[in-house]
Amino acid sequence: MKRILVTGGAGFIGSAVVRHIINGTPDAVVVVDKLTYAGNLMSLSPVADSDRFAFEQVDICDRATLDRVFQRYRPDCVMHLAAESHVDRSIDGPAAFIETNIVGTYTLLEAARVYWNACGAEEKAAFRFHHISTDEVYGDLRGGDDFFRETTPYAPSSPYSASKASSDHLVRAWLRTYGLPTLITNCSNNYGPYHFPEKLIPLTILNALAGKPLPVYGNGQQIRDWLYVEDHARALYRVATSGTVGGTWNIGGHNERKNIEVVETICALLEELAPEKPQGVTQYRSLITHVDDRPGHDLRYAIDATRIARELGWSPEETFESGMRKTVRWYLANEAWWRPVLDGSYRSERPGLK
Ligand code: NAD
Repeated sequence: MKRILVTGGAGFIGSAVVRHIINGTPDAVVVVDKLTYAGNLMSLSPVADSDRFAFEQVDICDRATLDRVFQRYRPDCVMHLAAESHVDRSIDGPAAFIETNIVGTYTLLEAARVYWNACGAEEKAAFRFHHISTDEVYGDLRGGDDFFRETTPYAPSSPYSASKASSDHLVRAWLRTYGLPTLITNCSNNYGPYHFPEKLIPLTILNALAGKPLPVYGNGQQIRDWLYVEDHARALYRVATSGTVGGTWNIGGHNERKNIEVVETICALLEELAPEKPQGVTQYRSLITHVDDRPGHDLRYAIDATRIARELGWSPEETFESGMRKTVRWYLANEAWWRPVLDGSYRSERPGLK
């Protein structure tokens, strides 16, 4: 049994990782999360009763408390997902992105390094620091047949992606300079259950159910490579437990779709799965509204995920169609999760956490 410290474990992907570990492996987890607006303890309620689960409300910029958490739980592995993650917010207010994504990653690396240095030989050899990052560090692709590879040079476009690129560089420097056993993954856009409704897919589903406009940036021709979040959680666990130290793996779903196609797919699924529409709405797709494009908006992201398939035997189980169907069904069945997010009451919920 491993002891895994998951930062950002109350967020969208972090909570999927925690549910995967607790429900699908013998390992134990301690979640370290500040609980910003994006952290939701309701997403951890399916595992809150497990003896192998613990939660610590901690800011990754708080070194003294991180040191205490490392001493108390003595993790074999850190999976670092805590971040400010929303590109639009990074354009309106970059400061929190610099603080958490850069200073926070630095602070966590230092806490991990000091803890790791003081470990005995066996613990030291087994320890891993897995940094979870994004394909947005590569900038965007203009050609239709090109892909991001692990060797693609970094060219971030937004404050979010620049802060994630900085954190990737710090992680590599801590490996090279101090020997901290690090691994990095860069993943494409995720979607699935428990996704905060400021992001395209949950926003579209919930706005459509409420009869509100479905905003699409510009002409909606931007292409993203979509990965079902539970496929990502499996890939992350595989890398953290079986990846070679110093490695980088791109993770993607082989599911390139234009944003407008994503919104149209959701509308078509809702026509089938939720045919009783809000008053005054005859067709969900009539709610689609084009809005001003995001400044610096990247045109296309697409991942070449052959390395993780070849070296670690991982490939996605969901197609875009099957994953989207599961996702729409999940939102239709889980109003008890998203209603408190929409009205803000989720921030005061602590569902049975120790
Ligand atoms: P999210 O915004 O849903 O969750 C982030 C979590 O981090 C929240 O629980 C939040 O409370 C916590 N957090 C924020 N600042 C913190 C701090 N200072 N200290 C401790 N906790 C803090 O994000 P997500 O979508 O789950 O993304 C997780 C990671 O995966 C991020 O590092 C992101 O860059 C990366 N990533 C995301 C995607 C995607 O499509 N969502 C794709 C590739 C990579």
